[in-house]
Amino acid sequence: LFMQDIEAIGAVIGQPLSGAAQTVLITTHQNPDADAMGSSLGLAGYLRKKGHRVTVVTPTDYGQNLYWMPGNDDVIAFDEKVRVTVAQLMEEADVIFCLDFSSLDRIRDLAPMVRQSRARKILIDHHLEPEAFADLALWDPSAAATAELVFRLIVQLGDKDLLDVPIAECLYSGLMTDTGSFRHSNTTGDVHRMAAELLDLKIDVSSIHRRIFDNVSLDKFRLLGYVLNEKLKVVPEYKFAYITLTDAELKQYRSKTGDTEGMVNYALSVEGVVMAAILIDRNDEIRLSFRSIGDFSVRELVSKHFNGGGHRNAAGGRSKLSLAETEKKLLTILPQYQQQLLETV
Ligand code: 5GP
Ligand code: MN
Repeated sequence: LFMQDIEAIGAVIGQPLSGAAQTVLITTHQNPDADAMGSSLGLAGYLRKKGHRVTVVTPTDYGQNLYWMPGNDDVIAFDEKVRVTVAQLMEEADVIFCLDFSSLDRIRDLAPMVRQSRARKILIDHHLEPEAFADLALWDPSAAATAELVFRLIVQLGDKDLLDVPIAECLYSGLMTDTGSFRHSNTTGDVHRMAAELLDLKIDVSSIHRRIFDNVSLDKFRLLGYVLNEKLKVVPEYKFAYITLTDAELKQYRSKTGDTEGMVNYALSVEGVVMAAILIDRNDEIRLSFRSIGDFSVRELVSKHFNGGGHRNAAGGRSKLSLAETEKKLLTILPQYQQQLLETV
């Protein structure tokens, strides 16, 4: 099951030279990762080349390891100080592209603005169970990355010749990170064919990998050291490992946006572990991030118990309980999944 309104999307953005330049706003999910930013900025670069006026607006700020991306300087990260500006952009937009998220609750303060805007809304995404808010969609949950869908859009609209190094760097970043550097089970032949096409444009993949992954602040490493030493807990009877982080701990290590990203993967890497979680106290709510291997679906667990969703092997949600209560709730529901967890290899 998928939605591919490529022709209709082409009709909206296809003919700027004949006088139909559009005012476009692109947005993506909160705490945007490299696929969110890469797909958004790649699409922005492409649409600008087609003559449209484009602004990228994110619901929150994001990791500094993404600031190098072409087009980053023009991104508006929402906070209260820019509310009026952003509201105006939403008003003026002819088209709003929603990238790398499938339900409006993932864009925080931007959700009511997008909902109310009279702009045409176009979803480009690979998450499951999309909310029906968009007018058009390029939605395919079998796509490895939203960047893959942006690439597919450009190619299928016959605009492959518009791909250049800046656009390719953005799209490659999304593809590389959402496939775990081409090692997760979503790494298909199409993924490698897309990577090959981008490589043919002479992008420097080694440098991109370094800019994204080998660009870690000492504070982040110190926090990681603390977490691995003191906070990583393993529950062997459920093949489960998890981490909790309080607000005070984050402050103590001067944690910045993005510093906890990827941390949950250390828990999943522990031998014998099938499911991993990180629970983080983020002002007024607990954010939960889950990972699993094989057939065990953390999406199912999260959507049932923690008000979220995602993919089978990577999902996230939230809780309004305290951190300690959220941890307790999680440990209380584990027995329901014990058999499934123990059967997963
Ligand atoms: P992460 O754990 O890296 O924040 O998110 C992993 C995946 O879970 C994301 O790709 C996203 O699909 C999904 N996800 C994370 N948080 C939420 C949430 O609050 N709601 C929903 N529906 N999905 C989420
Ligand atoms: Mn993605």
